[in-house]
Amino acid sequence: MRVARWVLGTLAVVHVVEALELRRRLGQLATLPTPGPGALDGAGHGSRSPGTPMPGTATQLSAAHRVTPDVVTVGVDGTTIDAATRAAVAVEMAATGADVVDLVPGDLPPDRLLRLLRRLEAAKVGTDPYLVLPTGSHDTIALHPSAAHRIGWTADDVTGLDRGDMVRRTLHAQRHAPTALATRVAPGVNAAPATPEQRWRELEEMLAPAWPYGAPASVVLGLETLHLAAMTAGFLVAPWAAALALATWSAQPALVLGDEAGSKAALGRLPKAWAENVRVALAARQATQAKRIRRASEPLPAPPPPEALFEPRRDHCPWCGSPEIADRLDITDLLQHKPGEFHLDECRDCGHIFQNPALTITGLDHFYEDAYDGLGEELAETSFAALGFIYRNRVESLARHHTPRAWLDVGTGHAHFCLAARERWPDLLIDGLDMSDTVEEAQRRGRIDTAYRGQFPDLAGSLPRSYDVVTMHHYIEHTREPKAELAAAAKVVEPGGYLMIEMPDPASPWAARLGRYFWQWGQPQHQHFVKCEEMVAAVEDVGFDVVSVERGPATMGGDLYNAVALWLQETVRSPHLPWLPEPGTAHRARRLALYTAALPALAVTKAIDEVKDRVRRARGDKSSAGNAYRLVARRR
Ligand SMILES: [Zn+2]
Repeated sequence: MRVARWVLGTLAVVHVVEALELRRRLGQLATLPTPGPGALDGAGHGSRSPGTPMPGTATQLSAAHRVTPDVVTVGVDGTTIDAATRAAVAVEMAATGADVVDLVPGDLPPDRLLRLLRRLEAAKVGTDPYLVLPTGSHDTIALHPSAAHRIGWTADDVTGLDRGDMVRRTLHAQRHAPTALATRVAPGVNAAPATPEQRWRELEEMLAPAWPYGAPASVVLGLETLHLAAMTAGFLVAPWAAALALATWSAQPALVLGDEAGSKAALGRLPKAWAENVRVALAARQATQAKRIRRASEPLPAPPPPEALFEPRRDHCPWCGSPEIADRLDITDLLQHKPGEFHLDECRDCGHIFQNPALTITGLDHFYEDAYDGLGEELAETSFAALGFIYRNRVESLARHHTPRAWLDVGTGHAHFCLAARERWPDLLIDGLDMSDTVEEAQRRGRIDTAYRGQFPDLAGSLPRSYDVVTMHHYIEHTREPKAELAAAAKVVEPGGYLMIEMPDPASPWAARLGRYFWQWGQPQHQHFVKCEEMVAAVEDVGFDVVSVERGPATMGGDLYNAVALWLQETVRSPHLPWLPEPGTAHRARRLALYTAALPALAVTKAIDEVKDRVRRARGDKSSAGNAYRLVARRR
């Protein structure tokens, strides 16, 4: 009873606080100035009227395209845009420099608008290249033709998209113009009808960064059900508190929008929400069952034969040649669960830690597949985008010694780091090099000037120019021959130029404390862990003077939280890994129970990491090792 009263009372407070926050965010949402008759004046939430059907001027996108060919639009099935809006978007792009404009339909139903405001702060859109998940209303976006061209889309409008595809298209376009984005309410755009199937698709795709290690869309839907159930069942145990929770929640649309449509949406909000929740849950069930049937009918992909995965076992240290090597750690693929066991050895003479036997190229290809691209691409994309502060720290580490002119980032991936370098020096020439096609995508996104694809030691002698800065961030541990990479860097960096290296620090006290759950082991992708002192000596050997070494300040942190997350993934693996048989209901139930039980541990470890990583970064002394080190060296 008392617990129920406490929960419902807290809910009531949360509802009010949230409504005030959403109202503030609505105030940031500008309306597209539309010329012509019936146009709404000016910006601000007072001028829009959600829920009101727009006048009959809307035309299908394809018809409007003939009238105003200046922008390219991409829209979900059933949405419409009028010619005046297209013209207005073109004017807005010219005025603001925006390349991608998300158009929030003028008649977006209040509940959808509230959901949008929950994930969108319009004032932040386009201000930060590292906005992790820019978002939109998923109805219609407009692109400047040059942006569409850069992405590789044709200049033709796209219509009739599924809502899930619209989520992906929106994100994809936004990632090509992270600092040239805008969100505008467009009275001339009509919202597409939101069916339960489409709501489910939207939810699934918005949560794609968790894929394939989790599918939280059903969790989000389940939480929505719990929330409605608390306000409904609460009447049986704590009627006054339940009434308060329900009243504050029902009043949200009116509080946020402050207009007639908001008040209308407040009436009978609970039964309407229940009806939608049940319909979406049914649609989700149907979609999930169809997916399972499809998966069951597809044969599992055959892994390469075990003997093709590994090189012969080494009996000496690949770094210093010493035969004195000892066992360090046995480990499996904790994340992807691809079958196989990996062994790390440690050199007694130089402290080098290395995978032994090492994976062959075939083995590496097998274990890289779907780790950073394919199924794992969204996860990689969002987790790298979330590291903005680390990228900016790297930039400052170099800026203390040098103002760069031409920069090569080796192992650049999607070139997230290069955004930070460009932010600091807008006129910088910056190229990227990587084994995978991500580097070509990085060039399309405008993050780098030129993409080079291949192995650095192979390309180093034939690059069309030299560089005054070469960087290798969390790259060397992935390579097969670290010293060949250093020699390649010495070839490419001009005399007086700089090399910056950042990589995992095996001297971190957490490496020993956490054993196989130390996330920087990164098995099986990471091949080599070089001691910081050894790396300094090796860099000097190939013709550089090391000018700065950062241990604590370069830490990526997150040791404890990631250890718990890895332990969870290992103990109750994701049921969504297509290279393994789909586990039954008992496994899924165990997984849900264990994750729920682990929530406090995840929260606590996250908080502890936050504190310990801050302390670690603040300590500048060279001996205080975090889980990564960074060194800057000047070419002699
Ligand atoms: Zn050694």
